[in-house]
Parts: sequence; structure tokens; C-alpha cells
Amino acid sequence: MTNAKIVVLSGPSGVGKGTVHSMLRSANPDYELSVSVTTRAPRAEETEGVHYFYRTQEQFDRLIEEGAFAEYVRVYNNSYGTLKSELQRIVQSGKHVLLDIEFEGGLNIKKAFPEAVLIYLLPPSLEELKARIVKRGSETPETLQTRFGKAVAELEYAKLYDYVLVNQDVYLTAQRIEQIVQAEQCRAKDNLHLIESLKGGQKLC
Ligand code: 5GP
Repeated sequence: MTNAKIVVLSGPSGVGKGTVHSMLRSANPDYELSVSVTTRAPRAEETEGVHYFYRTQEQFDRLIEEGAFAEYVRVYNNSYGTLKSELQRIVQSGKHVLLDIEFEGGLNIKKAFPEAVLIYLLPPSLEELKARIVKRGSETPETLQTRFGKAVAELEYAKLYDYVLVNQDVYLTAQRIEQIVQAEQCRAKDNLHLIESLKGGQKLC
């Protein structure tokens, strides 16, 4: 594939980012998830190397010193970071890189890679968002309040993203992401070679 993209998917806790990128990856093998490093404990259904690389804070701090991260943040008393090695591995395979990261990391990725496509997922309503977080069942009343409060506050940052999508239907959201990426691949400034080839007498198809 030519013109592979770094695609950042962000959105409030419980909006369904995981379900959306799983759907997208199963529908289209040209997308691969960059697995982040975290210091938080694995949830029951999570697997090392699939959902995250689980590390201690000490190990995480060593990775920072080694310059291993393209970006990292501390949220909910835990650290999360995108490995440069993951980005390189996926880019080298020619696939689109999917990043499921929070807004601060997303904005830092955009600074480092201006061509990255930033997509922010919105819930259909705040009531629905709270219901989804409760349904996930991994929160205590305190962490639920923290996550929900942060979710509402951070909606403001969606305005800094390139695209927003309301995640009402996972299938449609995954489809829209593919469409956005397809449109991004058609940007004139990234396709000047096509115009030059055509002018030079070459057939494009
Ligand atoms: P969770 O603990 O629910 O898996 O993730 C909490 C938040 O951290 C989510 O918004 C998730 O997208 C974000 N996150 C996961 N990995 C990274 C990362 O590598 N960098 C940043 N900035 N955020 C991350």
C-alpha cells in the first residue's frame, strides 16, 4: 500500500474506541494497532502484547530515559506511552498505524508527525457514555466518577482534532474512518507525482 497513514483515535473513556478499531482491523487488514506500554494492571480480558505491554513504573521510566517513546502521558495515576519501535514496525510493513490514545498524546503525535490523521469519537449522549462505562464493570464508584468527569472535561479538546465522529453504530464508525483515510490519501499535495507522470505521458491506470 502506498501513502500509509498514522491514524489517531481518541475519545472519552467508554466511547467504544476499542470496539471500533477491532471492527476496523477485522474488516480491513491494511490497518494495524500500535500496542502501547502502560503501568496500569491488566484487566481480566486483557493480554500482554495484545492490549498493552504491561510494565512497572520503574521500567516505564527507564524507557523514557532511553528515548523509546514517540509520546507518553500520565493519566489516572498511571503512565501510558506509544513506542517508536511500534510505529516503525507498522510503517515498515506498509500498513496504516492505528493509535488508541488520549487527546494529549494525540496532539503530541500531530506535532511530531503533521501528516497524522486525528479522529475524535463522540458518544451519542453523556447519559449513554456513563451507561457504557458502568456496563464495562471495571470501575469502582470513585474511578467511575473520575473517568466520567475527565471524559466530559476533555470533550473540549475534540475541537483541536481533524475529524469528529459520533459513535452510534460501530460498523458505520469503522466505515467512516476508512473513508476519511481514503480521502486523506487523495490530498493533491501528496499526489503531485501523479500529475507529473500524466504530463510526462504515462498511463495512470
Ligand atoms: P485504559 O486504561 O482505559 O486502557 O486507557 C486509558 C486512556 O489512555 C485511554 O483514553 C487510552 O486511549 C489512553 N492510552 C492508551 N495508550 C496510550 C498511549 O500510549 N499514549 C497516550 N497518550 N494515551 C494512551
